[in-house]
Amino acid sequence: MSLFKPLDNLGNSKKEIKVSQDVERVKCLIIGSGPAGYTAAIYAARANLEPVLYEGLQPGGQLTTTTEVENFPGYPEGVTGPEMMVQLKQQAERFGTDCRWGLATAVDFSGPTHKVTIDEEKTIEADAVIIATGATARYLGLESEEKYKGSGVSACATCDGFFYKGKDVAVVGGGDSACEEALYLSGLCNKVYLIVRKDHLRASKIMQERVMHSPKIEVLFEHNTKELRGDGVVEEVVLIKKKGTPEETEVIKKIDGFFLAIGHTPNSEIFKAYIVTDQVGYIKTKPDTSKTNVPGVFACGDVMDSVYRQAVTAAGTGCRAAIDTERYLSEKGS
Ligand code: NDP
Repeated sequence: MSLFKPLDNLGNSKKEIKVSQDVERVKCLIIGSGPAGYTAAIYAARANLEPVLYEGLQPGGQLTTTTEVENFPGYPEGVTGPEMMVQLKQQAERFGTDCRWGLATAVDFSGPTHKVTIDEEKTIEADAVIIATGATARYLGLESEEKYKGSGVSACATCDGFFYKGKDVAVVGGGDSACEEALYLSGLCNKVYLIVRKDHLRASKIMQERVMHSPKIEVLFEHNTKELRGDGVVEEVVLIKKKGTPEETEVIKKIDGFFLAIGHTPNSEIFKAYIVTDQVGYIKTKPDTSKTNVPGVFACGDVMDSVYRQAVTAAGTGCRAAIDTERYLSEKGS
């Protein structure tokens, strides 16, 4: 092992990264295995880029935590998230993608060849890198939330809202996502409680107005979630109103579904010293492309998309990343 300290061109602190003696050279490295990563792999493999794909901590990405996926075109009867990811992987492998277990733990994008450390052990030197590391939905961190994941707790109304048709649900959060989720659910559900910890919404004015004017949405300002209860599935939520004040009271609402919309964390931490992101950490790509600020490094899927965050849009950007990579490599003569 040798140690080196790469230059910081974006003002971010950089830790020393270990460069292993175990070095492998590849043309196209894909980091991440959600719909974006696998779609990039399908296109890259078919373009003869011999892609190597590292699956990361959660092979298959966020979709492996959902149950039924009914909005991905081509599955008229729906498909489970894990099943769809297995099929995408098989499709990528069919054209020669080398899919591997392993987590990218550090990168060095300072030179013409991009170095990526896997599991703090192995170094991949790649002519081009496609970042498809996704985003992680934030949860409140309650024990009961963990208990009912998939049995009433969800972080995606567009994915799971349909299962609560005609029922009462709650959405936590006060930003644009929470308002959007609440409005979406109000089109399906009988009643939607919007649980907001402050006395105001953070969302844009137009979203606030829509929420406040919806007859099906009741906004519960200054409410914090204490716990979820139910026999196997969510049946009620226990809230604390005006927490920490003399008027503090416990409020119980009967619900069937509990939706988190308190933001997502893009999985971009290890790239930040080289790759430009927005304030939240979403990777910035050049308009109408998947190109990052570093030549030969491309980004696709939820790690660069704070707006749509759907499997089908992630797959679309994965396709773009592979096409951009192919063009970059052929211009470079690699
Ligand atoms: P935001 O960070 O904007 O909002 C998160 C919300 O969750 C805030 O109201 C915050 O409360 C609340 N929250 C955070 N942690 C907790 C907690 N532990 N308990 C209770 N509430 C909590 O995230 P969004 O996902 O809503 O939006 C991210 C970005 O994406 C924004 O820039 C947004 O404008 C954009 N967006 C745009 C859309 C559109 O244009 N159609 C749709 C969706 C998102 P508090 O206010 O108290 O901090």
